[in-house]
Amino acid sequence: MKIRTRYAPSPTGRMHVGNLRSALYEFLIARHEGGDFILRIEDTDQERFVEGATEIIYRTLEKVGLTHNEGPDKDGGYGPYVQSERMKTGIYMQYARELIEKGEAYYCFCDKERLASLKTEVVEGKEITVYDKHCLSLSREEVEANLTAGKPFVIRQNNPKEGTTTFHDELYGDITVENGEMDDMILIKSDGYPTYNFANVVDDHTMNITHVVRGNEYLSSSPKYTRLYEAFGWEPPKYVHLPLVTDENHKKLAKRGGSTSFEDLIEQGFLAEAVVNFIALLGWSPEDNREIFTLEELIEAFDYRRISKSPAVYDIVKLRWMNGEYLKAMDFDRFYEMAEPYLKAALLPDDSRKEQGVCFGEAELKKIAAMVKTRIEVFPDITEMVDFFSELPEYDTAMYTHKKMKTTAESSLEVLREVLPVLEAQEQYDNDSLYGILAKYVEEKGCKNGYVMWPVRTAVSGKQTTPAGATEIMEVLGKEESLRRIRRGIELLENA
Ligand code: GLU
Repeated sequence: MKIRTRYAPSPTGRMHVGNLRSALYEFLIARHEGGDFILRIEDTDQERFVEGATEIIYRTLEKVGLTHNEGPDKDGGYGPYVQSERMKTGIYMQYARELIEKGEAYYCFCDKERLASLKTEVVEGKEITVYDKHCLSLSREEVEANLTAGKPFVIRQNNPKEGTTTFHDELYGDITVENGEMDDMILIKSDGYPTYNFANVVDDHTMNITHVVRGNEYLSSSPKYTRLYEAFGWEPPKYVHLPLVTDENHKKLAKRGGSTSFEDLIEQGFLAEAVVNFIALLGWSPEDNREIFTLEELIEAFDYRRISKSPAVYDIVKLRWMNGEYLKAMDFDRFYEMAEPYLKAALLPDDSRKEQGVCFGEAELKKIAAMVKTRIEVFPDITEMVDFFSELPEYDTAMYTHKKMKTTAESSLEVLREVLPVLEAQEQYDNDSLYGILAKYVEEKGCKNGYVMWPVRTAVSGKQTTPAGATEIMEVLGKEESLRRIRRGIELLENA
């Protein structure tokens, strides 16, 4: 039998990492087995519907490369693929009536007042009304009369009060509940829309879905699904409920408030492919300890049986590290294209620098890009790393003192004073030539490299850490600006 998986999002806003993980795993299961991945939009909950959210779903799936074989925009013979459109075909009502015929469901005409008078129970922190099957006892004639009179109704599942129901999950195994604990849930609401639980079962069956992957918040309602499948006499798909995603404090990752949607992460400068790689490992691990995977490699390696049941920690430090690995491995031209806006914002803020004599062209920007490529984790890190190029920051002369380099303020002043005339005389300001003349000076002085390079780098950057060495920085700054900064260093040290 051909594997058919589906991603069935409700268009309620941006795509949360938990939802993207379900989509990714569904996609991987299908592709690993040469099956089909289907996109179905579950928009029957009109109250939660958010305008534009469906477009976000398309955009996100496309950006991360989760191409669907069938969906609202790609008919594969199982359409429509949007539940509100499916509803118009009458499919949910038709199946609800089939259950009524079988005695597995019934019309309920109870009004708000009557429902309010019923006993309530707290299930998973929510207060729910336990329906007392009052309308189950209506005769066929009474039901007909009510329907003809246009009395509002819902259709409820008729769950037995005795016995147990067992639901099977591929990871969690068998889950058995007492039937007495299950409510007669609503299948068709008074507005004619199916409930999410009902539409989901009807659609998974009629679309021939073989595997359902979803967050484990749905695990508790799953026995009701078994009841529906049994009532229809249908074979249920394989269910894979995913472990909870928690924050670093092991609290459930909040959908609202935190920056946990795919779009938030992209806005924070993460690469789509790094986010996908990171999400793949939220609860799943390969046989070896490998961590970096392209989507193709994930397809090859993915086995849903290796998904863990313990909560997965959403570790942003790990995501940053992973993103950095992708940046290191990235082709330089692509890197430059993506880094350019950040470089320009940090280095070409206005025309004032032209007066100082520093003006960066594309050649310099590319050199700076090459320096930061292996050092940043996300593009926004660029700003702080390169801003000293455009303007020498205010710095403390204490920075000239470095224990390991054996430098002090006095030694630094001496070195800067001695190298200044040599650098003034030098015409070629490229890294190799500059390094050559400083190395010669080191040799003549009979000292260690750092004894000279540390004060020079401090003077030209004003920073403790820089993305490159002294002479590479000077090559980018050019002669005039490099000398200006060294003179400034001498001045600061003289006045210290
Ligand atoms: N529409 C549900 C959601 O967005 C799908 C749950 C499922 O995959 O069954 O959470």
